[in-house]
Amino acid sequence: MTTTSIGQNSTEPSERGEIRLKAKAVSRGIAIGRVVCLFGSDRQFYRVQLAAKDIEPEVRRFKAAVRLSSKQLKKLANSEGPKHSLAGHEIFETHRLILEDASFVSKIEATIRERKTNAEWAVKVVTDEYVAKFKEIEDEHFRDRFVDLEDVAQRITNALGGGQRTKVRLDSDAVIVAKELRPSTMVEIYDGDPVALITEHGGWTSHTFILAREVNIPAVTGLKKILRRLDTGDQVIVDGYAGQVILHPNEETLREYRAAVTRVKLPTSPQLIEHSGPPRTLDSREIIIRANADLPTVYRRSRPLGVKGIGLFRSEFLFNRFGGFPTEAQQFDAYKRLAAAVGSDGVKIRTFDIGSGQLVERNDDRERNPALGLRAVRLSLAYPKQLRVQLRAILRAAHDSTVDIVIPMVSSVSEIRDVRKILNSERERLTSSGIACGDPGVGAMIEVPAAVLSADDIFREVDFACLGTNDLIQYLLAVDRDNETVANWYRTLHPAVLRAIKMVISASERSKKPVIVCGEMAGSPFYVPVLLGLGVTDLSMNVNSIGPVRAVISGIALEEARALAEEVLELSSPAEIEASVKNTVESKWAHLYSPDFLDARRF
Ligand code: PEP
Ligand code: MG
Repeated sequence: MTTTSIGQNSTEPSERGEIRLKAKAVSRGIAIGRVVCLFGSDRQFYRVQLAAKDIEPEVRRFKAAVRLSSKQLKKLANSEGPKHSLAGHEIFETHRLILEDASFVSKIEATIRERKTNAEWAVKVVTDEYVAKFKEIEDEHFRDRFVDLEDVAQRITNALGGGQRTKVRLDSDAVIVAKELRPSTMVEIYDGDPVALITEHGGWTSHTFILAREVNIPAVTGLKKILRRLDTGDQVIVDGYAGQVILHPNEETLREYRAAVTRVKLPTSPQLIEHSGPPRTLDSREIIIRANADLPTVYRRSRPLGVKGIGLFRSEFLFNRFGGFPTEAQQFDAYKRLAAAVGSDGVKIRTFDIGSGQLVERNDDRERNPALGLRAVRLSLAYPKQLRVQLRAILRAAHDSTVDIVIPMVSSVSEIRDVRKILNSERERLTSSGIACGDPGVGAMIEVPAAVLSADDIFREVDFACLGTNDLIQYLLAVDRDNETVANWYRTLHPAVLRAIKMVISASERSKKPVIVCGEMAGSPFYVPVLLGLGVTDLSMNVNSIGPVRAVISGIALEEARALAEEVLELSSPAEIEASVKNTVESKWAHLYSPDFLDARRF
């Protein structure tokens, strides 16, 4: 992402007719702003208007990216091994020739200079022109070569992201519009403080929208071909309650929405503050609530709500923030700050849950099924050097602080044993060098069906477990959690999901070791009664969910929740269970829910 941004700040209504589009709300709130279109897939960017003084440095940045791309292609063309066939060699050579074609590269340079625009944008404009010409060619063989050109453009764009990054600056009313918004882009842009997000794809549990909810940015998704319908600078209203986007709003609509513009506010009523400390059900069962938080400031906001530390710190937040693996010093600093914010309540640091697609060095080895690929602990074990760095930073941060480790995507005890081995060897190294380290507890994420079926074995190897319902539902039901088109199959209240949760709770009780439910399900006031009924006593959630969830916990009796769970465990379809939960919520507990939750009816 680059420096200055383009866009007008006017809040005048548009001359064009108002268009209302139905979308899916994934982060609540309302915003009025101006569109900033985001392009690119691996590396996302928008058009930036450069000041005269920034043009030559931008050309130099582009040239450096071309040199890096050329070096990568040379290496790929010359590599040996089964994956690098003769055909592979030819493809990479062709790509190198495209890159060395003076007219392609110089045209991009000229575009940067003449249109005073960022390199990413210039690459896109010139590539689009070339691709259009290729598509006019009659000879099928030549016509299809545009794919190579697009590959090369993608490589340059990725290389542009590999260098130094500058702070993003967005206009104060930027509404980001993208086909899909990658979590890494989200981390980059949210310093720029966009007012809202609109995307074509992405689900409620996608990391991007989890982050949006954490920092209160309204967001909607599911708008097909949205980038074709609007341009950077267009005025737009995003309604993250009703799930609506209004393009070119007229004066009357603007007036109506200006009055309603609000970001979701944390409930800070004296009543809630008075109830700090863990909430209790009506029949006095204490339920622990923790925060899923990426920043100490976010955690501090939740402290008045009786939260008990950070139950899930997704350390890939740092990977995204630093544009790659952070150093030991950067990690140590971040972990220490979190530990200071939570004190004796503790922070549970999950080791990097990233996929191989996020590693620049593996960008050529695309996985067909990244969710089933070299991800999370698998990737950490494949890159043990980086795992050692992370574990060292955690061990050091755990000295005099309450810090635990969580291993993501565990599918058997083997991964836990492998990580423990590395952890112990790093502890020995640190201790023998006289460096103080602590004794972090080790926990496993239970989010893969195999882990549910091996829960008793897993509990024997760990100090605690974290139940990740986002991935558990994805893997149990074979539904991509980030794919809006299959969102109807992503059913939290599927009988198999509830049975799986019950199995994990029972294993936790047998082992007498705690399990924290930390997926989005834990932060939903609709699902929480079911979870309590299934035996859950420890929940970790987005800080903005704590108020509404507390209100529900404090207003129901465990006995009632158990009766609901017993009833739904007998049902055999998601629709029946959803209807049963809805019926109980509406008939018994409606007073505990805020009207927007009841209206949205998120099942
Ligand atoms: C989960 O899978 O439920 C979880 C908590 O982790 P993430 O959303 O980061 O995958
Ligand atoms: Mg997960």
